[in-house]
Amino acid sequence: MKITYSIIAPIYNEIDNLPELYRRVKEVMDSSGEPWELILVDDGSTDGSTDGIRALAEKDKTVRPVIFARNFGHQVAITAGWDYARGDAVVIIDADLQDPPEVILKLAKKWKEGYEVVYAVRGEREGETWFKKFTAAMFYRIIYSITDVKIPVDTGDFRLMDRKVVNVLKQMKERHRFPRGMSAWVGFKQIGVTYKRAARVAGVTKYPFKKMLRLALNAITGFSYFPLQVATYFGFISAGMSILAIPVVAILRLAGSHFFEGQTTTLVSVLFLGGVQLISLGILGEYIGRLYDEAKGRPLYIVRDAPEDQ
Ligand code: UDP
Ligand code: MG
Repeated sequence: MKITYSIIAPIYNEIDNLPELYRRVKEVMDSSGEPWELILVDDGSTDGSTDGIRALAEKDKTVRPVIFARNFGHQVAITAGWDYARGDAVVIIDADLQDPPEVILKLAKKWKEGYEVVYAVRGEREGETWFKKFTAAMFYRIIYSITDVKIPVDTGDFRLMDRKVVNVLKQMKERHRFPRGMSAWVGFKQIGVTYKRAARVAGVTKYPFKKMLRLALNAITGFSYFPLQVATYFGFISAGMSILAIPVVAILRLAGSHFFEGQTTTLVSVLFLGGVQLISLGILGEYIGRLYDEAKGRPLYIVRDAPEDQ
C-alpha cells in the first residue's frame, strides 16, 4: 500500500506518554484522510516502553516498531526512522507531546503548496524552566552565528520533509549527527511554521545539560571549522602584540626604565600562551576524535527488532 505520511517518534522511557501519543496521532492522521504510518523507534528504553510499543503494533498495523539494542541517542533514533519510513512525507515528532500532533496538518498544508522542508518554529514554550529556555535560546543563536549553514533559530527536530529530502539525508552517514542542521544543509524549498510548544504530558526531560552540550558540539563541529580557526586568530593576535611589544620594551630599557623588570610579566604571558595552546590542542583533539569515529565505520545503530520491509 502506498503511504502518504510517515510519522517518526523517537522513544526513550516514555511509557506514560505512549497511549496518548498514539491516540492523538491517530486522531489527527485519520482526519487527513490519507494513508499514514507511525514509526516508533525505541531508543533502548528500560521502563517498559518497549513492550508498550510492541503491544500497540500488535493491535494496529499502522504502528511500526523499530527496537534498538541499546540507547543510541535521539539523533540516531531519528535517523533510523528515516531509514524505515515509506511515506511521501516524513514527519519527526517528540514522543512527549511537546510537539502537538495537530500541527502536522499545518505542516502538511505547506508541503502540498510545494515546500519540501516544513520546519516548526517554537513561538512560545510552556512548562519549561528559565534555565532550559535560556540555554536553548543561546544554543540556537550561537549555532546560527558560527556554523556555515543557516540553521533556523528556535527550531527543533519537529518538521515535515518530502521523500526527495529524506532520500538525500539517508545518504549522509556522519556519526555525530545534527538532523536539523543536515536538513538545512541539503537546500530544497524550505519554510517555517510557528507553533506553541506545549509542556511535557508525562515524565521528565531526557536532555540534561550534558546532552545539550554534546548536541551543541555536534552542531558546531559538524557544520563549521570555526573552533579550529580560533587558534589561528589567537596566534596572529599574540604574534602581533609581541611584535609591537619588542621595540617598546627595548626603548624603555635603553631609556633606563625599570617597568619590565621581574618575573611576573614573563610568568603571566607564558601561562596565557600555555593555556591558549592547550585549548587549541583540545579543539584539535575533538576534531581528530570525530575523524577517528568516522574512520571506524561502525554501524550507526543496531536494531534488535524492526519491520522487514524497509
Ligand atoms: N529521546 C531519545 N533518546 C534519548 C533522549 C531522548 O529517543 O537518548 C527522545 C525522547 O523520548 C523524546 C525526544 O527524544 O521523544 C525528545 O526528548 P526530550 O523531550 O527529553 O527533550 P526536551 O524536549 O526536553 O528537549
Ligand atoms: Mg520534550
